[in-house]
Amino acid sequence: MIEDQSWTARGACVDACPDDLFVEGAAQRAVVDLCAGCPVQLDCLVDALDHKVLFGVWGGMTERQRRALLRSRPDVTSWRAEIEADPTLVPDPGYRPRPVPGRSWSR
Ligand code: SF4
Repeated sequence: MIEDQSWTARGACVDACPDDLFVEGAAQRAVVDLCAGCPVQLDCLVDALDHKVLFGVWGGMTERQRRALLRSRPDVTSWRAEIEADPTLVPDPGYRPRPVPGRSWSR
């Protein structure tokens, strides 16, 4: 089966230099911030988790965070349904409404 990879062209990092994206340590924070506003964050994260990509920031999660998630759920082979069912599995998904100080998202 051929996977739809068209989301890659819509990523917030599409024009970024790879040297700025595949960084280590504290420098990953800037990439995580970029991912937070990315319209394809979930697609990116699911792709990295499904393929066990263990280097760099993908979908707003650092390699360390993804490794921990993969270790905690070794039975999962398709992550989209898992994350959609339980968004708390990921630390700060961009597709989830973000709280605004002084404002509640609940009705
Ligand atoms: S989630 Fe982050 S790494 Fe993935 S496409 Fe968007 S900006 Fe790039």
